[in-house]
Amino acid sequence: MENGTTLSVAQHGLTDRLTRWARRLSTHEDPVAETSEREATKRPFSREIERRKQLYNDIGSFLFSHDLDLTPLNFGLVHDYLTGADHGIEKAVGAILQTRGKITNGWIEGLIAERQKDEVTPESLADMLDKVEDNLSQFTDLMDQSRSSAKDYGAALQEQVKDMSEAEKDQPVLAKLIGLTRAMVEKSRQVETQMRDSQKQTQMLQQSLETARRAAEHDHLTGLPNRRAFEARMKEETLQAQAAQEALSVVFCDIDHFKLVNDTHGHDTGDRVLKFVANLLSGISCERCHVARHGGEEFVMLFRGKTAAEVCTIVDGAREDLSQRSLVNRSTGQRMEKVTFSAGVANVFAYDDPRDALKAADRALYLAKEHGRNRVYMAADAE
Ligand code: GH3
Ligand code: MG
Ligand code: MG
Repeated sequence: MENGTTLSVAQHGLTDRLTRWARRLSTHEDPVAETSEREATKRPFSREIERRKQLYNDIGSFLFSHDLDLTPLNFGLVHDYLTGADHGIEKAVGAILQTRGKITNGWIEGLIAERQKDEVTPESLADMLDKVEDNLSQFTDLMDQSRSSAKDYGAALQEQVKDMSEAEKDQPVLAKLIGLTRAMVEKSRQVETQMRDSQKQTQMLQQSLETARRAAEHDHLTGLPNRRAFEARMKEETLQAQAAQEALSVVFCDIDHFKLVNDTHGHDTGDRVLKFVANLLSGISCERCHVARHGGEEFVMLFRGKTAAEVCTIVDGAREDLSQRSLVNRSTGQRMEKVTFSAGVANVFAYDDPRDALKAADRALYLAKEHGRNRVYMAADAE
């Protein structure tokens, strides 16, 4: 394990990704430029820069050969196509190139618009669930009130009818009124029963919503909480750790050369590797430690009551464990090349905002990658 200074900001979203990538290319932000590590790390670092420059050139050539505008949208799409970062885009572009041989600005816009239209993000699903749940709980309150009013009304009418003397009941007008009242009592009983049934159905609907909410907060492949759930958990844990004056550390993990696993063994095997790593990381999590799938082949973890240095040791143990295993491709029976991961660890309280700590962990992870992968780095605390 080594200490690492930080470099650039990990962001989500196309423009941010491009910004991050472009920053990594700029030499004046070389994180090791001023350190004695520079010589030791020069080779892997420049290889990485070369790889990125090559990709940058390939994206440029692609854009020019297809006469595409230099927009973030086009840049991002070509990036995702050439790197395979987005399986759907890779397939769609591959197909259009085979049939038409060329892609246009309009086609890209159409493709992206179509994808956005169909996209149900965990965020939008959770928003919908919030609204439905709000409406349902208002409905349940109303129902409660109406049901008890109907019940009270029925009971009051019944009481009145009971109190009337037999003599009074013989008078024709009163007898008619009593008849009407009895019908009313019966009616309000029926309404009350109907309302009770509706209430049961509402409760069942609320349970289904709860199940849907759980699904919206979990990643379906690994079963781990997703990024959204992790961010919410991080907020809670930060408050609790602050109150109890406990340490809190965050980890960003990324499987090394995962694209190669997909390219060599296929997407399904890639999925199985993801599940395997998810299990391995879950193995080191506990009540006070949470692991989530941040997206793709990236995982995040949160440790309460452990310093960043202690967490580095724990995560390094998991890293060592994985690197010692030899996995087998279940479809072919072939042994796979070693699967490893790199990670960055940060002390949450060294930053004003827990999200900044996550970014710092990501920058440390980036350095771990630059320095050869299969290692765990600790982020330097913010000034
Ligand atoms: P690095 O060591 O720099 O992290 O290299 P890498 O190949 O792991 O990283 P890169 O970002 O180039 O590739 C990540 C790959 O992960 C590309 C994408 O196709 C793949 N991927 C993302 N999500 C999934 C998934 O759910 N299943 C599978 N099988 N692959 C996925
Ligand atoms: Mg990654
Ligand atoms: Mg990776």
